[in-house]
Amino acid sequence: MASEKIRKIAIYGKGGIGKSTTTQNLTAGLAELGRRVMVVGCDPKADSTRLLLGGLAQKTTLDTLRDIGEHVELTEILKEGYKGIKCVESGGPEPGVGCAGRGIITAIGLLERLGAYTDDLDYVFYDVLGDVVCGGFAMPIREGKAKEIYIVASGEMMALYAANNISKGIQKFATKGGVRLGGIICNSRNVDREREVLTAFARELGTQLIYLVPRDNIVQHAEIKKKTVIDYKADSNQAQEYRGLARAIEENTHFVVPRPMTQDRLEEILLEFGLLDMVEPYKI
Ligand code: ADP
Ligand code: MG
Repeated sequence: MASEKIRKIAIYGKGGIGKSTTTQNLTAGLAELGRRVMVVGCDPKADSTRLLLGGLAQKTTLDTLRDIGEHVELTEILKEGYKGIKCVESGGPEPGVGCAGRGIITAIGLLERLGAYTDDLDYVFYDVLGDVVCGGFAMPIREGKAKEIYIVASGEMMALYAANNISKGIQKFATKGGVRLGGIICNSRNVDREREVLTAFARELGTQLIYLVPRDNIVQHAEIKKKTVIDYKADSNQAQEYRGLARAIEENTHFVVPRPMTQDRLEEILLEFGLLDMVEPYKI
């Protein structure tokens, strides 16, 4: 049965910020350290595990359920990828119909029933779509499936807005459940003073900038080969960075209920770091 020693982690952040790329690379780093990991993609795009699976198009859990009904075998929805990382894609409803969050819970429920959360696992990562932790996409933390959260952001204004909104959702569920924010991961967009702005932003939320992952074209080169950077060029600088992130998460002890900012306070910070020209036009 699901053991409490498994660290259950959800990765949130604005769409396109780099959640799936970062999650797969950091889990590859954990797998290199000998950790047993499962990655559950919770995005209807179902691209959370392709770099770990070498591009293998894995049928989503919801599609499998739709096609063959309740009598699903674990091997039909869970494939082993890089260094034995267990890979699942929850999938989603057809665009515009139904609640994607429900789908995520259906998928997680099925994984539980089929015994996917084995005692030998050290980590489960949920790669969750969503600019805000609203309704459906709050499911993994609302239902207590994930206890530890990292937000992927960058020094760009919209990424910070999204990260603050996500923190509002976390705060709401943290007061009821045991969910905690473990930090902000900066996936760099080479914005001026990016480390400084993310450090200030994280501090304001009561959390930490746990790691800054540089922007590097090698990520695209690896992606074309359907690999993580760690798998594609193990001795590259970027591979070292992802190992650094993996270690930072492994060693993390700083877990908080975030204190989201008011819009005014966030805009003050954005102004201070030159990410916003003036506040007034936004207040009309
Ligand atoms: P999300 O899962 O948040 O929607 P993805 O992980 O799919 O975002 O990332 C979007 C794109 O950004 C990817 O196609 C990837 O090539 C690129 N990317 C992500 N991280 C980096 C990075 N550190 N350096 C360069 N490109 C990156
Ligand atoms: Mg993604």
